[in-house]
Amino acid sequence: MTSHRQPAVFAGHGSPMYAIEPNRYTAAWANLSKALKRPDAILVISAHWVTRGVWVTAMSKPKTIHDFGGFPQTLFDIQYPAPGSPALADRVKELLGVPVVLEENEWGIDHGAWSVLKYLYPDADIPVVQLSLDGSLSAKEHYELAKNLRPLRDENILILASGNVVHNLRTIHWEGGATPYPWAKEFNDFFVSEMKANHHEPLIHWEQFGDAAHLSIPTPEHYWPALYVLAQQEQGDAPKTQVDGIEMGSIGMLTFTIE
Ligand code: ZN
Repeated sequence: MTSHRQPAVFAGHGSPMYAIEPNRYTAAWANLSKALKRPDAILVISAHWVTRGVWVTAMSKPKTIHDFGGFPQTLFDIQYPAPGSPALADRVKELLGVPVVLEENEWGIDHGAWSVLKYLYPDADIPVVQLSLDGSLSAKEHYELAKNLRPLRDENILILASGNVVHNLRTIHWEGGATPYPWAKEFNDFFVSEMKANHHEPLIHWEQFGDAAHLSIPTPEHYWPALYVLAQQEQGDAPKTQVDGIEMGSIGMLTFTIE
């Protein structure tokens, strides 16, 4: 019905290791791109770029950033040489109507972005622009700001937000196969059911869900990207779960689209 519009995609990215160890989540991302019309450019909102104020990358050749430590050299060797798009950066600046600083030499494509993009578009031939998360904004303010990006879907721009709905590193079991914590499952189930019912308010005010929410979201930066995708939902759109699961006990791997 709305095939001319791009969907908006939220990807639960999980461990950086998934960039070199394909699994059912990375398979779902690869399948997803096959179902999409090829976008002219991709706007990425990554949990790993939190700034003071809102920033957007505007360089023509963004560098691949390896913003983590303690992982094998193979991960540091990964390059995602997609071009940038100064034109999309300008368009984002225009749409947001807030001071957006166009960076020339700093930042680039961080692992929240490339660990997913690598599977979505392995050829790295679609321009990528990143939009930062202003750490001073409330969840509601993020959601309202994100609504301003809606016209991009009609301009053949793919909005890709990357984080994790449940993300507690303090409780993580690094060895695979751990059973999800009950609170992780409880909050993830709550998120999916409210999302499917098109109830965004309880998801914006997640802290009202209580202990399971606070354990699932000890810090909000991995959760905020999901709000950027929910905010793209307009009349006639529906949310769709692409893949779901909880890994390492407390990392929610939900990937969903608004289309
Ligand atoms: Zn992350």
